[in-house]
Amino acid sequence: MEYELVVGLETHVELSTKTKIFCSCQTKFGDAPNTHCCPVCIGLPGTLPKLNKAVVEYAVKAGLATNCKISEISKMARKNYIYPDLAKAYQISQHELPLCYNGFLKLSSGKKIGITRIHIEEDAGKLIHENDAVYIDYNRGGVPLIEIVTEPDFTSVDEVREYLENLRLIMKYIGVSDCKMQEGSMRCDVNVSVRKKGETAYGTRTEIKNMNSISMIAKAVNAEFQRQISCIENNLPIIQQTMRYNETDNCTEPMRNKESLADYRYFTEPDLPSVYVNKEDVEKIKNTLPELPEEKLKRYVNEYSLGEKEALQIIKYPNLANYFEKMIFLSNAPKLCTNIMLTHIFRHLEDDDAKESCSLSVNAEDFAKIVVMLEKGEIPNNSVKKIIDKMLESGKSFDELFSKSDFAQISMHELELIVDAVIKNNPKPVNDYLNGKTKAMASIIGLVM
Ligand code: ADP
Ligand code: ZN
Ligand code: MG
Repeated sequence: MEYELVVGLETHVELSTKTKIFCSCQTKFGDAPNTHCCPVCIGLPGTLPKLNKAVVEYAVKAGLATNCKISEISKMARKNYIYPDLAKAYQISQHELPLCYNGFLKLSSGKKIGITRIHIEEDAGKLIHENDAVYIDYNRGGVPLIEIVTEPDFTSVDEVREYLENLRLIMKYIGVSDCKMQEGSMRCDVNVSVRKKGETAYGTRTEIKNMNSISMIAKAVNAEFQRQISCIENNLPIIQQTMRYNETDNCTEPMRNKESLADYRYFTEPDLPSVYVNKEDVEKIKNTLPELPEEKLKRYVNEYSLGEKEALQIIKYPNLANYFEKMIFLSNAPKLCTNIMLTHIFRHLEDDDAKESCSLSVNAEDFAKIVVMLEKGEIPNNSVKKIIDKMLESGKSFDELFSKSDFAQISMHELELIVDAVIKNNPKPVNDYLNGKTKAMASIIGLVM
């Protein structure tokens, strides 16, 4: 029997607004516990939330970049549950009327993954388990999140991976989040079900919670897929429940039975008015959107004649892409810039972080100059590596390190004249060579040099 995997994703992305969603505490990550808190974000009774306008703007940006429609009126809702990291015992989220809906992201195969909705909500605090004790850090409480919910449209792990990488890149491009999965600013709930190939009805889904690395998600989905298949083959029921991925044993295990919608007792948040976003607001935000990765790829291929693979290596890092475009703008030689970037500059940007921050000690102008000199034949190709290495190691420009005469080249024509003269004026080694003493060539080359 052949089985098909079905996956739907709920991705939480922390927005990089300066302040939290309902108070003016900072959203900074990594500071001492409980240093960015106030009565509102730790949930003291009697406090009232006030919605941060920037959160709405960021979320609309995210919606527009993922082809969503934007609701003119959306509503905040209370999602009730008890957990120590959320002291007021409810999360303010959106439910019936989310801010964005009906979007999609296209995969490289052309397949569209439907985006059901994007809503805004507050993050909870963080529990820290240490030496048999549990500590609570409320710095994260009230940090704005968007939750991006897809349709159950994925049928392979590769599609899941591509979507997440794509989504992360888009969020970075539009500047709404740094999407650092290792810091938890992007996390996923992964819903998995299986069905027999060819069937259209969906099977019962399980949900793997709070995954924060793409490779881990891939492993967990595979493990859960296998577990569900073996349930079916052994006539065991698949129960709708929340799963946890056990990395050590590479398997998924039940965590708790899944809450049903009714458990959350959603109702409209009485402490906040509806959110109004009119068409002009949407237009304004639309005009602030930068070129997105997909359009950039097209432009690199069409205007710069890059191969898709080459282009993607650069587009993956927004800051690097800016730097690269500046080099091209100043030198007007895309092919050479690509070569310099991928073979020489990349050697100095070893890991993803370095590429991402594009932390180079030499600016794009200085590299553009090298490219222009190369084009004019003022420096030879085989010196490029040496020149660039030296520049990047010292942080100095070409002019500070070299002069053009260090690399003076001779034209082919001049060279031919010299060779002719050497042959004419040195009959002995030439005749020796012609008579079969091939070693004589060395002395002829020596004379030319
Ligand atoms: P909840 O908040 O209870 O998890 P949501 O409706 O917000 O429910 O999210 C449901 C998620 O589960 C969506 O991403 C959806 O695509 C996915 N999903 C729904 N049914 C299935 C299924 N049969 N198999 C896989 N994923 C599913
Ligand atoms: Zn606060
Ligand atoms: Mg869910």
